[in-house]
Amino acid sequence: MKIAFIGLGNMGGPMAMNLHKAGHQVSGFDLSEAACKKYAADGLSIADTAAATLEGAEVVVSMLPASQHVEALYLGDKGLIGKIAPGTLVIDSSTIAAASSRKVAEAGAARGIAVLDAPVSGGTGGAIAGTLTFMVGGSPADLERARPLLEKMGANIFHAGDAGAGQTAKICNNMLLGILMIGTSEALALGVANGLDPKVLSEIMRRSSGGNWALEKYNPMPGVMETAPASKNYAGGFGTDLMLKDLGLAQENAAAVRAATPLGGLARNLYAAHSLAGHGALDFSSVLKMLQKG
Ligand code: NAD
Repeated sequence: MKIAFIGLGNMGGPMAMNLHKAGHQVSGFDLSEAACKKYAADGLSIADTAAATLEGAEVVVSMLPASQHVEALYLGDKGLIGKIAPGTLVIDSSTIAAASSRKVAEAGAARGIAVLDAPVSGGTGGAIAGTLTFMVGGSPADLERARPLLEKMGANIFHAGDAGAGQTAKICNNMLLGILMIGTSEALALGVANGLDPKVLSEIMRRSSGGNWALEKYNPMPGVMETAPASKNYAGGFGTDLMLKDLGLAQENAAAVRAATPLGGLARNLYAAHSLAGHGALDFSSVLKMLQKG
């Protein structure tokens, strides 16, 4: 299958590579020259512009940072929706506002282009291993068209509901993740302040009632888990500013439906302060720095 893949960042790059390795003809593009060079070296075909990836594409996949990037890419006079051939399937896996996903889906529908919002969970490790969880919003028939491709990038595929529903599921999940990373960091910092070995404490909590995803796969304490961003100076992974964006989306959504999300609100403020302290580009598990002696 001919696939246009736009956004070759921490997540999009490995996702595009999994489609390429599965034998699809992938044409990739990213605004970052470094990202393009990296994946060209890995054998991916790189186009000069986003529009140039569309040449013959049957499916377009995008993996961009935030709502404004996705709206700018697809909508408006110069947007791709005006250039994509009718009948093409668009899969946007970026985490963005549900309202933005619905705007793109409506613009697509007006031109006979099927659009799915398909945000993911599973981190960069899941993107590399092809074990992501997809949360899909859109029609069940369009999801069935996308399924064979999603299966090359992920292990779990859920239909959350109509356009935008994938995004709503994603921000509920990430609000919980943001909260639990702070809680896990707080518990580890308390133990270490009392002289406990963070590896021993992590293992105790992992196998006890405090066990959670951070302790299983993404320990925030450097040196505990070799593969976690914490052990690589918090480089790569899921940026603090991206977590801040998701917690902001959760708060906007909560305000719109008058939901009470007190811990989500507190978590957003803690990541905001962490970002203001200059850590926005570090992986979000670096929030531990805020809770530990330097
Ligand atoms: P990233 O910043 O590493 O990558 C985004 C890429 O998009 C960058 O390389 C940037 O240059 C590129 N880009 C921006 N605008 C573009 C445009 N108009 N055309 C082409 N390229 C453009 O971010 P990421 O970590 O890969 O995350 C991407 C999305 O996935 C975000 O919405 C994020 O919230 C979500 N997400 C990330 C993770 C994670 O662990 N990193 C996990 C789940 C979901």
